[in-house]
Amino acid sequence: MPRPISATLSLSALSNNLQVIRRFAPHSKVWSVVKANAYGHGVEHVLQGLSSTDGFGLLDFKEAILLRESGWQGPILLLEGFFSPADLEAIDQYGLTTAVHSDWQIDAIKQAKPSAPINVYLKINSGMNRLGFKPEKVEAAWHALKALPQVGEITLMSHFAHADGPEGVEGQMAQILAAGENISGPRSLANSAATLWYPDTHYDWIRPGIILYGASPSGKWRDIADSGLKPVMTLSTEIIGTQQLQAGDRVGYSGRYRASGEQRIGIIACGYADGYPRHAPSGTPVWVDGVMTQTVGTVSMDMIMVDLTPCPQAAIGSKVELWGANLPVDDVATVAGTLGYELLSALAPRVPVTIVE
Ligand SMILES: *Cc1c(COP(=O)(O)O)cnc(C)c1O
Repeated sequence: MPRPISATLSLSALSNNLQVIRRFAPHSKVWSVVKANAYGHGVEHVLQGLSSTDGFGLLDFKEAILLRESGWQGPILLLEGFFSPADLEAIDQYGLTTAVHSDWQIDAIKQAKPSAPINVYLKINSGMNRLGFKPEKVEAAWHALKALPQVGEITLMSHFAHADGPEGVEGQMAQILAAGENISGPRSLANSAATLWYPDTHYDWIRPGIILYGASPSGKWRDIADSGLKPVMTLSTEIIGTQQLQAGDRVGYSGRYRASGEQRIGIIACGYADGYPRHAPSGTPVWVDGVMTQTVGTVSMDMIMVDLTPCPQAAIGSKVELWGANLPVDDVATVAGTLGYELLSALAPRVPVTIVE
């Protein structure tokens, strides 16, 4: 029998989430963001559940080519643009749309001889200060692109830094509106948080990522609990051993957990080499044999220990859910001091993936 750990992906949850997203932004087309191997779910796996999307957004040429080879003929957007002038050959060959965030990229397009005009997303740096042209440089960049026969449609694009927090999008929206004042054509601004919470940002194309997978852009499950979004990935395993502790017994590496009285614990087949966060402290929620309980001790490479006090019936072979349908990944991430984004996208290659409808 193989090690009992597995990640189950629900294709119906995925297509449900895309429908929910369309209800939030009924007038926009959807770039389903599948970067980072579809946030850990596997690009090749999610394609089926997202077949009714309008396009896919990602960063890696490898993933773009995988989508084409899997039969996807619709739009593909390179969210980070291209990395060297030679990449324009692949952009031409596979019919990719690319972000343009720097002057050197405009020069490179000018030198290129694509077989068909390339659609570009002109990136505005509206305050995040990662990629993009400062608002006052956008018009010049747009005119430079507009003058090139190698360029097809130009869409204005920007990215929000705190659409998931109290600061919102107002300041960045002012920058974006100023940058595009004299520029006609489509816009694409909204990530997941803006898709849910700022309808004024929707425009022509939204770019949701994390909500496709049923986790919260704010890191708090309660913020999306009533939205109709459903977790796509369930990471599960089984109890492979139990121990009866006496008061004072310690558990795991460095003995960081100490039993205060008699306590039964379960040993489960999942560890940080499966993608579970090593920094998750004792007390991180875990769902064991139908009951919510918590971890005890330091997460090891291949095992985690869990408290069986609330589930005395649990035994070797009992089902354990690390996150998923019964335990939102956001709730695990919060206790571990991170976000669902990081946990999902860090799912390790050694975890077998099972697809369910
Ligand atoms: C990752 C990414 C998104 C999606 O972000 P979510 O918060 O997961 O919705 C959208 N746009 C760009 C440019 C991105 O890099």
